[in-house]
Amino acid sequence: GGACDLDRNVIVLAEELLPSDTVRMDLSHVVGLATHLGGATAHTAIIARTLGIPAVVGLEGWEEISSGTEAILDGGAGTLTVSPGEAEREAFRRSDAARREEEQSLAAFRAMPTATADGKCFELFANIGSPGEVKAALEQGAEGVGLFRSEFLFMDRADLPGEEEQFEAYRQAVERMEGRPVIIRTLDVGGDKKLPALPLPREENPFLGCRAVRMTLKRPDVFLPQLRSLLRAAVYGDLSVMFPMISGLEELRVAKAMLEQAREQLEAEGVPTGRVKVGIMVEIPAAALMAERLAREADFFSIGTNDLIQYTLAAERGNENVAGLYTAYHPAVLRLIAATARAAEAAGIPCGMCGEAAGDPLLTAALLGMGVGELSMSPRLIPRVRRLIGGLTLEQCRARARELLSQSDEGAVRTFLMSQENV
Ligand code: PEP
Ligand code: MG
Repeated sequence: GGACDLDRNVIVLAEELLPSDTVRMDLSHVVGLATHLGGATAHTAIIARTLGIPAVVGLEGWEEISSGTEAILDGGAGTLTVSPGEAEREAFRRSDAARREEEQSLAAFRAMPTATADGKCFELFANIGSPGEVKAALEQGAEGVGLFRSEFLFMDRADLPGEEEQFEAYRQAVERMEGRPVIIRTLDVGGDKKLPALPLPREENPFLGCRAVRMTLKRPDVFLPQLRSLLRAAVYGDLSVMFPMISGLEELRVAKAMLEQAREQLEAEGVPTGRVKVGIMVEIPAAALMAERLAREADFFSIGTNDLIQYTLAAERGNENVAGLYTAYHPAVLRLIAATARAAEAAGIPCGMCGEAAGDPLLTAALLGMGVGELSMSPRLIPRVRRLIGGLTLEQCRARARELLSQSDEGAVRTFLMSQENV
């Protein structure tokens, strides 16, 4: 990386940032991230969003910018202006002031339930990576945690967190949420997330390889301690277990059997366990297409658009060469989302969404209209989405879903989304 340590606000410039880099960095002075590699849903961008700082990816020539150079980073436009002139500074000051004002007016939407103008309630949850992030989630008005990415407990360390350490982290998260629902996802590594303590075989196509639940099902020595700690933590609050990357019923059944095994072990040892709901991420097209059957054996769904997009469109997330193809606005992605929500509704189970699309205001109305009842996002996005929902009726949402799903190409989807009022 090319971080400089001036004693003031800094923008971190690098070829690439890995999740472990951002965990290790002292972020207290970091006001922005700019990298060459990575896409909108690479984990770096997700972390930047969590911290509420702008990130620009696809940056060329970053190595030529020397440490200490003044620059303006515009996350919205995706630009880095090096050594800005007075006109550019002035424009920046103005847009920054407008941004602060907008933030002020949104503050009222933090401590408020989420409902449409005609009174239909929805849930806005937070995505977090550690119990330490609960505070910020509650401050922004999260009504639950829709995705606790447990892998962050495993990253940037030489060993694996044991059962006790994990138990403490999960217990803290549910306790700090004070009875609100907390969905904890089991270990999701492989793909672009690597663990020093758990070397995995080299793979030609890691995103199509032995990642997430595929890996943990093969490693009971890793999976069982996590499942045990989750069952133990469930005593202290409303905890749900969520399995990532489920591609079919067999995997779900084996994962559930291992959870049962963990429970039996604990019961035999006389260790108290709590009830948990067991859900799956729908992030592989196969799962979306089989949602009707999966819904009979899962307590809830959460749609992971970050991966669902990459697998549906065969466009790797984080690969800037195909960033133009990678979008939730492709009709195929939208149809899979709608099919998943419909199957959940038919089976009477809740359907949430925890991919980045869940926080996209352009999609809010249509997602709710499709039957996605819970949207889980970076906490900072919550007030804006809540305000937006308050200005909609359920019938409007349904009409937007219908119209969105009738579009035949991405351009038409975009045009339709941009034409919506009050977003
Ligand atoms: C997703 O795939 O949409 C998701 C929420 O999980 P992650 O980004 O951690 O893969
Ligand atoms: Mg995923």
